[in-house]
Amino acid sequence: MNELESLFSSVRNEFPALNQKVHGKTLRYLDSAATTLKPKAVVDRISHFYSYETSNVHRGAHYLGDVATQAFEAARQKVAEFLHAKQIEEIVFVRGTTEGVNLVAHSWGLTNLKDGDEILITEMEHHGNIVPWQMVAEKVGAKVLAAKILDNGELDLEDFKKKLSAKTKMVAFTACSNVLGTNNDMALLTKLAHEVGAKVLIDGAQIVSQSSVDVQKIDCDFFVFSAHKLFGPFGFGVLYGKKEILDQMPPYQGGGSMIAKVTVDKTTFNEVPFRFEAGTPHVEGAIGLHAAIDFMEKIGFEKIHAYEMELLKEATAKLEMIPDLKIFGTAPNKGPIISFNLKGTHHSDVGQILDQEGVAVRAGHHCTQPLMARLGIPGTVRASFSVYNNREDIDALVKAVAKAREMLL
Ligand code: PLP
Repeated sequence: MNELESLFSSVRNEFPALNQKVHGKTLRYLDSAATTLKPKAVVDRISHFYSYETSNVHRGAHYLGDVATQAFEAARQKVAEFLHAKQIEEIVFVRGTTEGVNLVAHSWGLTNLKDGDEILITEMEHHGNIVPWQMVAEKVGAKVLAAKILDNGELDLEDFKKKLSAKTKMVAFTACSNVLGTNNDMALLTKLAHEVGAKVLIDGAQIVSQSSVDVQKIDCDFFVFSAHKLFGPFGFGVLYGKKEILDQMPPYQGGGSMIAKVTVDKTTFNEVPFRFEAGTPHVEGAIGLHAAIDFMEKIGFEKIHAYEMELLKEATAKLEMIPDLKIFGTAPNKGPIISFNLKGTHHSDVGQILDQEGVAVRAGHHCTQPLMARLGIPGTVRASFSVYNNREDIDALVKAVAKAREMLL
């Protein structure tokens, strides 16, 4: 065992879910790109909140109300530091990546986009970063264009540049493809978009569990992510937006907490970020995310990245040795995600056989139908790796895929 392996073998112990058998086999959880397992520290923090601190935030005139509000706002401060935002007001709490994109598309988009404008996305986007733009484009008469990808799954930079023009008002792209694993150069794409005067939204769903993000260095206008993909709770996420842009955006939803004053005839709205947080928020979501970021920082982003790259390298090399197996996405700069198919088989059949062996992977189109169309396939099997995986998981995956090949071919 090398130094990293021994560090991460103790990290693995913090995930109770891994101490169970499925179908009589040791669970090999290789579906972290869909959602990560939750460490004990996060589960305990949420349990503590519910047991001893339950109270609504921003309104209680009592002790527990203050405790809950302080914990909720401390989470906002933590997220601001995590993303290296300039100020805490730039952190809006939402339901997840999908709601973050919808908020920007509807609030910023409906105010700023008009007939003839263009929104540039890429062929590797998740539906969460496609559909909201189409909905808004249809309303205002704007057009959604997608920059192509190369055969190895990298973004075709020349096509991206070609599609940028004075008509481009928004560039929305993923930091890391949830299928191909491709990591995009966030700072470069942002710079190119800004050169034509477009705003930039980055879908950070897959990048936040892999490496630390500095929104000021990248200079993006918006950045969205979901807590559940970085060891935190479901139903909670973050929209980062530059304060000067958020200040100009109208509310996305109306209700309590987002108001300054309400009369029967008219409402004036609260300051950002509260203007975008109508209703009782997901308090334990914020508190759980805080604990999840603490968990990651305790391990260290550099170590997490180095370890996940070791897993990716080893799993890729071993899978490549299986005859008839094709990997989709071989960009040099990749996250710990491997999509593949066995020639002549259906991804769902392979997924089912793997499940019987205790190997949890995702099989399907991964909410990326335009990418599947580009690749000319209905779906893939996807194995994704995280801090709690190890060599035995890789070996179990490889063995199960070899078995699926024997059974299906
Ligand atoms: N974008 C990417 C790249 C994703 O991988 C996902 C989830 O799989 C999403 C967006 C949507 O995230 P959520 O369903 O948490 O809103």
